[in-house]
Amino acid sequence: MKDENCLFCKIAAKKINAAIIFEDAHSIGFLDITPRAPGHTLVIPKYHAEALPSLPDAEISHLFEAVKSVDALLTGKLEPDGMTIGINQGPASGQEVAHLHVHLMPRWHSDKGGPIQSVVHNGSGEDFEKIVKKLIG
Ligand code: 5GP
Ligand code: ZN
Repeated sequence: MKDENCLFCKIAAKKINAAIIFEDAHSIGFLDITPRAPGHTLVIPKYHAEALPSLPDAEISHLFEAVKSVDALLTGKLEPDGMTIGINQGPASGQEVAHLHVHLMPRWHSDKGGPIQSVVHNGSGEDFEKIVKKLIG
């Protein structure tokens, strides 16, 4: 499934140029045009899904196999100290391109970045028990 108006579908179809560093039957990995770290890469399913909930179950494992391969490629070639791997899902989380993509950002001890939890500061005051009840109660 493709969306003719989708930027990342166009990149997957090679209608728009990108530095593609990984490709298999289901996914591609290409360098982010505004990298936050050397080797900052986006891995996407070729299937057009706006976000994880609309990606068919059969595609999930393929996507994460691609993430694992790109992680190995970046780690092997760039020798970072670590890797931040994450998805912005929905505008509130910062998603700007409406085609599911997994960010891989190579990390170095010296890069002055933080852990993935540091992107939000809305944890204090939460009623832990209430949340548990809402989720499984
Ligand atoms: P989001 O905030 O949606 O998770 O991230 C979208 C990412 O896509 C951004 O980091 C942005 O730099 C990247 N991006 C946007 N347009 C293009 C493009 O045309 N080519 C490439 N390679 N990356 C893009
Ligand atoms: Zn798309």
